[in-house]
Amino acid sequence: MATSSSDLARRAAGEMLNFIDGEFVRSADDGCFETFDPTCGQPYASVHAAGEAEVDRAVRAARDALDGPWGKLTVAERSALLFKLAARINERFEEFLVAECLDTGKPHALARHIDIPRGAANFTVFADLVRNVPTESYRMETPDGAGALNYGVRRPKGVIAVICPWNLPLLLMTWKVGPALACGNTVVVKPSEETPATATLLGEVMNEVGIPPGVYNVVNGFGAGSTGEFLTRHPQVDAITFTGETVTGTAIMQNAAVGIRDVSFELGGKNAGVVFADADFDAAVDGISRAAFANCGQVCLGTERVYVERPIFERFVEALKARAEGLKIGLPAAADTGLGPMVSSQQRDKVLGYYERARALGATVVTGGGVPDMPHEQAGGYWIEPTIWTGLAEDSPIVREEIFGPCCHLRPFDDEDEVVALANATDYGLCTTIWTQHAARAHRVAERIDVGITWVNCWFLRDLRTSFGGARQSGIGREGGVHSLEFYTELRNVCIKL
Ligand code: NAD
Repeated sequence: MATSSSDLARRAAGEMLNFIDGEFVRSADDGCFETFDPTCGQPYASVHAAGEAEVDRAVRAARDALDGPWGKLTVAERSALLFKLAARINERFEEFLVAECLDTGKPHALARHIDIPRGAANFTVFADLVRNVPTESYRMETPDGAGALNYGVRRPKGVIAVICPWNLPLLLMTWKVGPALACGNTVVVKPSEETPATATLLGEVMNEVGIPPGVYNVVNGFGAGSTGEFLTRHPQVDAITFTGETVTGTAIMQNAAVGIRDVSFELGGKNAGVVFADADFDAAVDGISRAAFANCGQVCLGTERVYVERPIFERFVEALKARAEGLKIGLPAAADTGLGPMVSSQQRDKVLGYYERARALGATVVTGGGVPDMPHEQAGGYWIEPTIWTGLAEDSPIVREEIFGPCCHLRPFDDEDEVVALANATDYGLCTTIWTQHAARAHRVAERIDVGITWVNCWFLRDLRTSFGGARQSGIGREGGVHSLEFYTELRNVCIKL
């Protein structure tokens, strides 16, 4: 079943394989599925799915690797390997870029600026961090007067199942694999069925820099009743880290309960943007425009609800409309493309369903609301117009449910109390972006909006040492800096009687 031939050649021939124990592996029963080019809707590669047997093999390889050469490396040696890995990603930057944009349809300019550099940085940041993280230590009194010394030791948790979504495939996957490996764990990654390319490519890079076989494994396939479920149910998986929809998190949590496995969840959101009348108007329009439309709205941190203080409401709607209409819809490689297609026909249908519902509910469609005319050769692609609505009730599904498309609803507000209540009226709690030049107001409002991440006068500005994650139904736990290390290690206390 295993083949040692280059996966590059396989991809050229239109095949993507699983990566298990350092080798590219075909599906045992040739169970393949197609992956599509979102710009034209044509299949471009056949992906080998991992059945229960391949998942089992991957988990066992990951377990064996814990006791093999990987488990014997010092922190400094492990860290050095991860720096090498990041350097190699950067050397093969263009290949990662092309693979990511072919899979997702996202503009090259976006992936060049965010996805691929972050894919490399996710290894260097944690490689650096693990060498510098302090351990706690407490000297205690004892009745005999001699005392005792306590100190903490961090050990890898073991085999980590990494389940990923399709919107930022390399970035979000390495955001988990980076700290997991830095802490000495091994991983079995299940990329989204929509976007397996960069996870596969990373397998080659692991081999090239000498990461031992079994440390990083990739199993391709679907979720429920398939690869994802086989992996999260596997009894030899020690912890599960997942980014995706809240409803999927619920299903995974039930599997994790068997054997009391730890989970880290980054889930959905329905994030509010709040613009006060004293904001730097142009900066706010620019920030909200990116938060609503970047990556075709397929960003968990995106802003689908925008509250604008009444004195500037009409002007703001007009300015955002102009921004949306100025976005050039086009092919990923074109330098002036501002908006690519959506990732899949299912996702586009889902978003178009919301566009129809908004109209039926009586929304004012400020701009968009449909599918753009595209040249003949791209007619089968998953294109969609950026869309802005006003006039919907706060309890409408458009304002309550996560749409995950290039769209937002705008509503005026009159004071701080009102906008805080509006922003908090959701089951989610991922992030918010607040625009004001009034420093005290920024602090006050930031404290009162119940989310994991608050941006003031910016959006998506990330220092990877800071905590990242959602409140309420947007997640469990925090990623980033030492917070990732908390999840990927088991803290042991050693007490020595002196
Ligand atoms: P999804 O939940 O449909 O799928 C995510 C992954 O889970 C895929 O690999 C899928 O195959 C797998 N999966 C599905 N059902 C499963 C099951 N029962 N058992 C095991 N695995 C299963 O999410 P998606 O559509 O790929 O991504 C979009 C969602 O991700 C949005 O809700 C978005 O908000 C969320 N997201 C959150 C963050 C964050 O940081 N909070 C970041 C990106 C995306």
